[in-house]
Amino acid sequence: MNIALIAHDGKKADLVSFVLQHKKLFSDAQLYTTATTGRHMEQAGLVVNKMLSGPQGGDAQIAAMVATGQLDVVVFFRDPLDKHPHEPDVQMLMRICDVHNIPLATNYAAAMLILKGIKSDL
Ligand code: PGA
Repeated sequence: MNIALIAHDGKKADLVSFVLQHKKLFSDAQLYTTATTGRHMEQAGLVVNKMLSGPQGGDAQIAAMVATGQLDVVVFFRDPLDKHPHEPDVQMLMRICDVHNIPLATNYAAAMLILKGIKSDL
């Protein structure tokens, strides 16, 4: 399973906590992250493939992977209470996930449901 993990700065701690709670599943997957999120994941002991930082085009790189069929799930913990210079890229990534019918979790509750689906082999 190829999973993208991204979090805005205000949500990075939440994403690390989420991933650590399900470390076995994430350790068995190929993980793709934006640069700063990836460094947090590495500090949590995970092996990840890092793209550029989100504001530098990392979200666009993840979107390209979705468009070319290289990702099965995208988890992007967005911070809806902050401004982001790369908001157009974030919108584009979400749109591309919809175009290609790739599950996208933008918050903890949705990510939990996707994980339950993966675990039950839906
Ligand atoms: P980052 O990018 O992991 O490099 O901070 C995430 C984002 O804000 O899109």
